[in-house]
Amino acid sequence: MEKSAHNLQMVDLKGQYEKIQEEIDSAVLEVIRSTAFINGPKVRQFQANLEAYLGARHVIPCANGTDALQIALMAIGLQPGDEVIVPAFTYVATAEVIALLQLKPLMVDVDPDTFNVTAEIIEQAITPKTKAIVPVNLFGQSCDMEPIMEVARRHKLWVVEDNAQAIGADYTFQGGQRQKTGTIGHIGCTSFYPSKNLGAYGDGGAIYTNDDELGPRLRTIANHGQVKRYYHDLIGVNSRLDSIQAAILDIKLRYLDEYAEARRTAADYYDKALAGLDQLQVPVRHPRSTHVFHQYTLIVKDGRRDALQAYLQDHGIPTMIYYPVPLYEQVAYKKAMANHFDMLPVTDYLCRSVLSLPIHTEMEEGALKYITDTLIAFFKA
Ligand SMILES: *Cc1c(COP(=O)(O)O)cnc(C)c1O
Repeated sequence: MEKSAHNLQMVDLKGQYEKIQEEIDSAVLEVIRSTAFINGPKVRQFQANLEAYLGARHVIPCANGTDALQIALMAIGLQPGDEVIVPAFTYVATAEVIALLQLKPLMVDVDPDTFNVTAEIIEQAITPKTKAIVPVNLFGQSCDMEPIMEVARRHKLWVVEDNAQAIGADYTFQGGQRQKTGTIGHIGCTSFYPSKNLGAYGDGGAIYTNDDELGPRLRTIANHGQVKRYYHDLIGVNSRLDSIQAAILDIKLRYLDEYAEARRTAADYYDKALAGLDQLQVPVRHPRSTHVFHQYTLIVKDGRRDALQAYLQDHGIPTMIYYPVPLYEQVAYKKAMANHFDMLPVTDYLCRSVLSLPIHTEMEEGALKYITDTLIAFFKA
């Protein structure tokens, strides 16, 4: 079998680093020499720059995206047993923090084109015990947030956006007003896991809000519930972004829009090259959102997903399945959801049919051509 000469990877963190190596190395060295490892000026500087970039009144850096979600849910004063609506087609962290806080994850299906929850799906699931919604901006584009916020207003529900995969994307309201994803719900959460669109060189996360009461409350909870040193008004957690990560992120933030553009250029190439294949559905771009392509995810029709994945692997092309198992079928969540429903048809179908191709900021045209030629050859064979 012919192997690719392209050394293909799902993400190319090394190639990305090499382009900004001087800036990164000197920023990291500066933190080490300052010894201000925790809560140093670099953390405040990154926080201010991220607030400006997002147009958010409050950014609270924290240790990772899962903590961000947990702190967000702690801040809105839910009671054990309250229901939180969450898509079943997402990364486990979204439901995990709900369950950890003794809340009930109310899993719902997603739209088969955008892979995101919609206002209609959410509204049908609401019960008198529902208190919050966690829409996930999956794979790099926004949920259709304007109608979701309308449903939330009508039913007095909190909205916590899981924006771990879509930092930098813009959502456009009916009136033409544009807002960054994660700043539309009451609280937004993001992850700086290295492979995310804004990736640290370790773990990191952030919470954002435009609410002047929630902002300080979130900051207090992330810092042991401490209002001033050694005075604890709330039960909190210890969740910090360290100064080295903040220094790295502050540099990478300057390139975030450029990175999104590079990902979109790769996605455009894939779209065009694969357009003629009826056996695939290329990602559907929602007209209200820009897409920052955290993942480029195909639907492979006719049950041929696993065969295609094996064929690509034989030709040196890595792919990933995000996500192979619906949340309600995970062993840890199965029992809790058992009385609720057997399965959600779209989530079930997507888990059997999706395939994500390599996409990152360093994709070259030769690699894209090799990947798409190989895909076409599979279906023509
Ligand atoms: C990555 C991710 C998280 C969790 O982020 P960590 O920093 O790994 O804790 C949560 N939700 C979604 C959708 C993610 O992709």
